[in-house]
Amino acid sequence: MPDRNVAVRLRGLRKSFGAVEAVAGVDLEITDGEFFAMLGPSGSGKTTVLRMIAGFESPTAGTVELGGRDVTRLAPFERDVNTVFQDYALFPHMSVLQNVEYGLRVKKVPKAERRERAVEALTAVRLPGFEARRPSQLSGGQRQRVALARALVNRPRVLLLDEPLGALDLKLREEMQVELKQIQRQVGVTFLFVTHDQEEALTMSDRVAVFDRGAIEQVGTPAEVYERPATPFVAEFVGTSNLIAGEAAKAVLGKEGTYSVRPEKLRLVLDVDAPVGGEEHSATGTIAEVVYAGASTRFVVDLDAGGRLIVLQQNLEVSSMEVTGLRGGRVRLVWNRRHEFAVVS
Ligand code: ATP
Repeated sequence: MPDRNVAVRLRGLRKSFGAVEAVAGVDLEITDGEFFAMLGPSGSGKTTVLRMIAGFESPTAGTVELGGRDVTRLAPFERDVNTVFQDYALFPHMSVLQNVEYGLRVKKVPKAERRERAVEALTAVRLPGFEARRPSQLSGGQRQRVALARALVNRPRVLLLDEPLGALDLKLREEMQVELKQIQRQVGVTFLFVTHDQEEALTMSDRVAVFDRGAIEQVGTPAEVYERPATPFVAEFVGTSNLIAGEAAKAVLGKEGTYSVRPEKLRLVLDVDAPVGGEEHSATGTIAEVVYAGASTRFVVDLDAGGRLIVLQQNLEVSSMEVTGLRGGRVRLVWNRRHEFAVVS
């Protein structure tokens, strides 16, 4: 019986290129309708996983299932997936409409239905009225949408996106993060995307898998991965790590191990002798660096017990002059104990 709820299931997936083990045993289940991110540094194997799901690469070991059906040995066109590539791969000599219709023409869908579905897909990506334009007459964000429409028109079960916003500048990328999410919600297709940008992964996804060296370190919602990193690698890669370890952990927290506290959870207190609440932990130190960034300021604090922590404070009532004047000063950092998490090496 095909499994209706699992869109993608990977079991023991491996891929070696000669001596390089690009994917070193990945098990993963993605539910129908999820917006799922594979996040990791360059070379961590996420694109290779995506290519094995699409069928462009065949695994050295393990299986790929789509909707409960084993597709490991099937060709790309036999799989119920479509891929949006980073460079969009639009045909420059075709109009927007012809580009979007292309997949349906190959499948010999009759002209009237082709037209209707292409216009529907262009409406879903909010590009109606652009049918006659050539890709060269579009902005980067609009090209991105055409590429999306061209994939969605085939009504795949799963849409694979390889660094979908990588070619856009920062402002457009932030706009498209919100748009992509809205489009996905509207069309209800499972989106599986690859990115090395942690903010992008946290903003758009329902769940994130964090990759390192060909394996998954942690899978969870953005809040779980960010607030409860399972390993030092995740703590480091997703956000600022802020680890308290070794002697510092013993001195400050009274326990052994490695712990993480996020920068925005730390409060900077200028009165070093101020009392600390029973629910709180604290550490004294010296401000080594102050980075003023308009809405907020980042402080780098060297702890007396060893190690350094980054503190992010909103500039509620202070000016840039006031905060930069704090460099070299003595401070106490205070945080609620429930915001410190053990991370496993
Ligand atoms: P990026 O974000 O840079 O694309 P990635 O996490 O997607 O990185 P992959 O592209 O999956 O990583 O590559 C994983 C490893 O496999 C890398 O060390 C890469 O050099 C290697 N690799 C990928 N494709 C091939 C190939 N066709 N031949 C040989 N080695 C490859």
